[in-house]
Amino acid sequence: MMSLRKLVAGNWKMHGLSSDLAEVRTIAEQAGGYPQVDVALCVPSILIERAARAVPGFAIGGQDVHHAEKGAHTGCTSALMLLDAGAVLTIVGHSERRDAQRESDADVKAKAESGLSVGLNVILCVGESLELREGGKAVETVTGQLDGSLPGDLHSAAELAIAYEPIWAIGTGKIPTTAEIAEMHAAIRARLHDRYGADGARVRILYGGSVKAMNAGEIFSIANVDGALVGGASLKAGDFIPIVAAAAAVEGAAPIA
Ligand code: PEP
Repeated sequence: MMSLRKLVAGNWKMHGLSSDLAEVRTIAEQAGGYPQVDVALCVPSILIERAARAVPGFAIGGQDVHHAEKGAHTGCTSALMLLDAGAVLTIVGHSERRDAQRESDADVKAKAESGLSVGLNVILCVGESLELREGGKAVETVTGQLDGSLPGDLHSAAELAIAYEPIWAIGTGKIPTTAEIAEMHAAIRARLHDRYGADGARVRILYGGSVKAMNAGEIFSIANVDGALVGGASLKAGDFIPIVAAAAAVEGAAPIA
């Protein structure tokens, strides 16, 4: 089985003020100790420019992007604005946005394509609710989300990552079993293959939902887990860097681009 270079991305959500830039610096500095892992931090949009200036060469990202190039969209941020501020990637389709902002698969697809069109890398989130999981519909829900939200053609596999984030595992301390993660990541891999051919084997699939230092090693050793999207445990270097270290400790990181 091919193993891809791991990506560990932090999602700071609505956390982060100027006073937290010191933590961004610490994270970037310590992440530099693990050159075999790609590490990124997705910070609030208003902090992107200062974060990017604080840590040149370290990947700073956004948490959402509008699908339109520009226009009458009060309060929204375009892909070019993210890029202009110094972001190199963005999350799209996080379940908190799919839920609170009622984003559909079609919206998420348009956002992903908008990000890719200006050269941002994209982390596209999918994941089922507890009700769907318990109803035995997790895999069909997630593959359905992929069918509706995967962007069209890719320039390279490196520009897209899928984050499988079961909604019931986000911020709850609960995580799926190893077998459940393996089953879902295999299903996602098959869908990526169908959609992108050979490139589909090299699009990274991240797991997200209550990843911590103590469970990261086990999660990273599951087939088709190519990294993690980390919420709460990404806010402090002391919690986040051990997760990066766990990714570095997993064998066989092949370059993907
Ligand atoms: C997230 O919301 O992307 C996430 C994975 O959060 P947490 O790690 O806090 O569960």
